[in-house]
Amino acid sequence: TLILGIESSCDDTAAAVVGADRVILSNRVFSQTDLHADFGGIVPEIAARAHAERLDIVAEAALAEAGVMLSDIDLIAVTAGPGLIGGVLSGVMFAKGLAAGAGKPLIGVNHLAGHALTPRLTDGVPFPYLMLLVSGGHCQFLAVTGPDDFTRMGSTIDDAPGEAFDKTAKLLGLPQPGGPLVEAEAANGDPRRFAFPRPLLDRPGCDMSFSGLKTALRRARDMIVEEKGGITRQDRAELCASFQQAVADVLARKTARALAAFTELHGASTIAVAGGVAANATIRAGLQRAADEAGFTFTAPPLKLCTDNGAMIAWAGWERFDAGLTEDTLTARPRWPLDKTAVPMLGSGK
Ligand code: ATP
Ligand code: FE
Repeated sequence: TLILGIESSCDDTAAAVVGADRVILSNRVFSQTDLHADFGGIVPEIAARAHAERLDIVAEAALAEAGVMLSDIDLIAVTAGPGLIGGVLSGVMFAKGLAAGAGKPLIGVNHLAGHALTPRLTDGVPFPYLMLLVSGGHCQFLAVTGPDDFTRMGSTIDDAPGEAFDKTAKLLGLPQPGGPLVEAEAANGDPRRFAFPRPLLDRPGCDMSFSGLKTALRRARDMIVEEKGGITRQDRAELCASFQQAVADVLARKTARALAAFTELHGASTIAVAGGVAANATIRAGLQRAADEAGFTFTAPPLKLCTDNGAMIAWAGWERFDAGLTEDTLTARPRWPLDKTAVPMLGSGK
């Protein structure tokens, strides 16, 4: 069984061919980073147009690399939300046309389910497991108990960590996306120079907060500028290192709590991470330590499968299809919470 997965919910146009036997035959990602570079963030209109322009090209490239033709594909899976609606719509319309033209079944996938089910594609992790999704737009602990069963055990109450990394980069004059650059700068600085806050650690539960961190960083930067007229490379490195350490500490401490709660509920002991921020070595080390201390197995998919890609959509589509979770109508949904505790409504908040 071969699945073609299509992803266009943010700033990557991606397509992949994946086998139901967990073999990834191709995984192509066209990044739009260069298109948005001059704007200091993603411009939805530009993103939507770029997706519309490239979806057919990336799908063709994925099929060619896999050495298969559209007629060999058994199922088409597409991200139906959440994300920037222009991109999601482009992907859904493209996939509908493709499926209708080729006479193939089509399934809509929640982008976050794609991330959350990735450890099953890469490592065959059995249900249930705990997932920490840390990306540019999300930060949540999910108990994953089935292909469509996700229970949120805690989440950020404001910014996502990737967003905080990106804003930190912007405040310090580094280009976007800022995560990798802040990490590189941090390698040359002492993380103990600035005592940035560790928000919500004093409160029970697994919710997190990262927006105060960015405010503290701005204040520290402004103080240095006021004193010395500007920040040196060393100042910048130490700001980055102290910021990164604060994020890593919060994530590790909250993860330790989530692990304890998860064991109590499910008696299982695997934690997996996904999302671009999982690429950060300091953050990963903190999570690994928390897992070791709790006797958990720690799984992190390779980076290319941690960030947005078509393979995770293909896989999540297959899991849904295989479980009979098909729907008659496929709609594009800008907001679409994963867990059923929060029921999505048209036009309402997350
Ligand atoms: P979502 O999937 O929630 O819609 P997204 O698509 O923006 O969000 P990803 O592509 O998973 O998220 O990850 C991108 C984010 O990860 C960016 O915010 C980026 O700065 C951050 N990131 C990437 N590498 C690192 C790193 N080494 N350290 C910290 N953050 C990083
Ligand atoms: Fe994503």
